[in-house]
Amino acid sequence: MNNYPQLPPLKLREEAQPGYEDESWKPTWNCFCCHDTGLVQDLLVKKIIKNYVSGRHKPVECNATNCDVQLGRYLYKTNTLDQRFSADLCDRLDAEERQMWKEWRKEKHEKRLASIDLDVTKNLRFRSRTNEENFDVRRRHQDIRNHY
Ligand SMILES: [Zn+2]
Repeated sequence: MNNYPQLPPLKLREEAQPGYEDESWKPTWNCFCCHDTGLVQDLLVKKIIKNYVSGRHKPVECNATNCDVQLGRYLYKTNTLDQRFSADLCDRLDAEERQMWKEWRKEKHEKRLASIDLDVTKNLRFRSRTNEENFDVRRRHQDIRNHY
């Protein structure tokens, strides 16, 4: 007999669901300097190393204070890491990246609010039109009464 255990299906991550609104997506990285990869994000590296080319130059080790990612020993052994970024520097990059995300989310949020406002205005306009209609109806009724 096929007595396989039965399991419920597991949902994909929320952002992979159809119709998922990316406005509500929030990065959950512990470290914004490396996005929890242990290697400083390319765009952040380029703020310090102007001509940095990912894949050609050594990846930069993240030393941010609140970063708890452990890079593989292999990287150290083979001397394939750029270890020049201090904790202080990584913390500053982390703070800047954090701020950028915050602003990006705020901007998205404001755009969203603006679109909601538009909807409200539309609704108000619609409602005031029906009020007008109601008023017209009442006036007509009064006219009829007055003419009696
Ligand atoms: Zn990090």
